[in-house]
Amino acid sequence: MLEDLMKIIRDPKRISTSVAIRQQHSQDLTSYHAQHLPDVVLYPRDKEELREIVAYANRIGCPIVPFGLGTSVEGQVVPIQGGISLDFTHMSRILEIREEDFAVRVEPGVTRVQLNQELKKYGLFFPIDPGVDATLGGMAATNASGCSAVRYGTTREQILGMEAILADGSLIHTGSLAKKSSAGYNLTHLLTGSEGTLAVFTELTLRVYGLPEAFLYAKVVFPDLQKACKAANRMLYRSIQPSKIELVDEYTIQAINSYKQTKYEAKPTLFLELSGWKSTVLDEWDRVKEIIQDESASEWNYTFDEEFGDQLWDARRHAALAIAASAPEKKLMTTDVCVPLSILPEAVIFARGVMQAEDLQGAILGHIGDGNYHAVFPIDMSLPEEVAKAEKVNELIVRFALERGGTCTGEHGVGLGKKSYLTEEHGDAVLWMKKIKEVLDPNNILNPGKIFQ
Ligand SMILES: Cc1cc2nc3c(=O)[nH]c(=O)nc-3n(C[C@H](O)[C@H](O)[C@H](O)COP(=O)(O)OP(=O)(O)OC[C@H]3O[C@@H](n4cnc5c(N)ncnc54)[C@H](O)[C@@H]3O)c2cc1C
Repeated sequence: MLEDLMKIIRDPKRISTSVAIRQQHSQDLTSYHAQHLPDVVLYPRDKEELREIVAYANRIGCPIVPFGLGTSVEGQVVPIQGGISLDFTHMSRILEIREEDFAVRVEPGVTRVQLNQELKKYGLFFPIDPGVDATLGGMAATNASGCSAVRYGTTREQILGMEAILADGSLIHTGSLAKKSSAGYNLTHLLTGSEGTLAVFTELTLRVYGLPEAFLYAKVVFPDLQKACKAANRMLYRSIQPSKIELVDEYTIQAINSYKQTKYEAKPTLFLELSGWKSTVLDEWDRVKEIIQDESASEWNYTFDEEFGDQLWDARRHAALAIAASAPEKKLMTTDVCVPLSILPEAVIFARGVMQAEDLQGAILGHIGDGNYHAVFPIDMSLPEEVAKAEKVNELIVRFALERGGTCTGEHGVGLGKKSYLTEEHGDAVLWMKKIKEVLDPNNILNPGKIFQ
């Protein structure tokens, strides 16, 4: 197989069987999922090479697992059946910036930070921010979202079109440069969130936005979680449109304080950002202030100071890493339910209750403007009773969400970790998902063993 692959890649630097490189591609960055080594790691340079690799793997029935930066948290990049790990480091070119169309074309290995650095020169930005840096291919494949989804939606809403290679090596284009279309089935939306199981992306056409004139930042401290959640809901019901609104509990604040040397008060807190024209933002802040005072907030300073904002969002972006650093010998299990907005305060209180009942230490944080929150437990994988406890709490939290019309994963995807909940959430629709997989990838070479039981 190596000899055959060398004939396709023809550059020994872009094909590796070294144990160190295979280990790097055997697991994700932080999660509890067990590692498994790929047989070989390939670094394709362009779509022609990729087509040949995929067609070859399909012929010999070799698994292919696309790999962006490996930051997904449900074991998506773990090559559980070995085979080829496909790394997109060498496909990270920004192909075109269409300023007046508010659109860009990129290769899948471009990261969101890289893209935003370039877009800034044009007064534009790409809003989706899953905290850590990530490739746009990986974000498309997990339908990532994060802090800004409350205003801009998820990655899916930003993808105007794609170029992708199917399992048999054929190249397809989906979507267009138009802002909307009613032409046929929406394959762009089907492939988004497919976690490398239906196709390998070679190019994405993405929506971008003009940078707002002003950003108002606020850190609002509440006496309890319920009041913080209620305040967030009331803002949305009053048509306030924050560009970010994030809940962090006291455990998260403690972890952030020791990781980032901040001195935030260890109480349930909302990190808030309003953006737009300065006058509109100030107007919105007046309405926010009424609501948070009503919900007994004890601290609610606001500022337009960029340095404060950078520190605030840097702290939020590093929250999960701060929690990981608080127990370096442990691995993280992260729940990711998303519930209807009206259920959110109840859901968060339920999560805290079951963690206390099971005596499981963990933090709660979330993108509460979307009804999406995470309970994060550092667990010692060598202690079966601790793992079992975390799995039980995870299951109770998911079940609570599903019984109330929510989903088991708002943004992290299914991977290995949420497979057992898919049928409970979608019923017979899962059979049709499997049929789609069979049609597009009959030999099951694309990221096999993920999403479905
Ligand atoms: C500390 C931390 C915080 C996080 N916070 C958030 C958050 O707030 N919101 C959120 O949404 N996510 C969050 N995540 C998860 C993560 O950042 C996302 O899942 C991210 O989108 C994955 O991007 P990646 O480049 O690392 O992809 P990878 O992890 O490398 O891959 C993810 C999936 O994409 C597939 N893939 C990669 N490239 C391609 C391609 N070219 N074609 C087809 N499939 C491909 C892979 O096979 C895999 O299934 C967080 C992760 C960490 C570690």
